[in-house]
Amino acid sequence: MAPEPNRLLKVWRRVLERRLRTRLRAKVSIDIHDNTHTMLTFQRHRARFRLRLHHMFLAAPDDVIQALADFVRHGDAEASIRLDKFIERNKAYIRRLSPEKMRKRLRLDPVGRHHDLGRIFDRLNERYFQSRISAAITYGPAPRVKGPRKSIKMGSYSADSRVIRIHPALDQPVVPRYFVEWIVFHEMLHHVYRAKRGDDGRRCVHPPEFLDHERRFHDFKRAQAWEDDNLDLLLRARVDG
Ligand SMILES: [Zn+2]
Repeated sequence: MAPEPNRLLKVWRRVLERRLRTRLRAKVSIDIHDNTHTMLTFQRHRARFRLRLHHMFLAAPDDVIQALADFVRHGDAEASIRLDKFIERNKAYIRRLSPEKMRKRLRLDPVGRHHDLGRIFDRLNERYFQSRISAAITYGPAPRVKGPRKSIKMGSYSADSRVIRIHPALDQPVVPRYFVEWIVFHEMLHHVYRAKRGDDGRRCVHPPEFLDHERRFHDFKRAQAWEDDNLDLLLRARVDG
């Protein structure tokens, strides 16, 4: 029977610890990881070195292990270059996330069933902002509510992560495209105009210049009118999200 991968990993890790211990003449403990950015970090606690290493180091040749020891002990610049070269040669072993996985990880889901937010965003960006707005956009998640909603937050913008979120209730065939566009346009303006404190000291999220700019949206009146007539429909929408 073949040994399980976890046991094998332990064996390889012990071998690597021993190879470093003999070169450093100190106690060594190693954690092995599968990170995508930082391949190697270390700390020294008195007589013990603790290293966190990418698994590419498990079977590294002797000159690389020597470079690792020199680097950890003296911060040796030449050793550092040798390690960089080794990492460069082995970068095929570094896990890469596909854009699709990346979006899943961030829970970005812009496509929808009826209104593709990515396309809407791109078109508005081109038409109104010379494609200068760099932000991500996604549906949801919809806060869970029992019974009928009393209000609905149709969009939000996070300046920290630069993500626009649109309520999934808007992804219905009865919701006209120009209405979704207006909501997206509004959130894009939040990227342009950051919240300000007014003269009374209160935070003003929609300063006058924001509201002026918003009126330039091509279907502004029609979108507002649609909201007035159809708010009920949005409040009643069932979404899983
Ligand atoms: Zn707003």
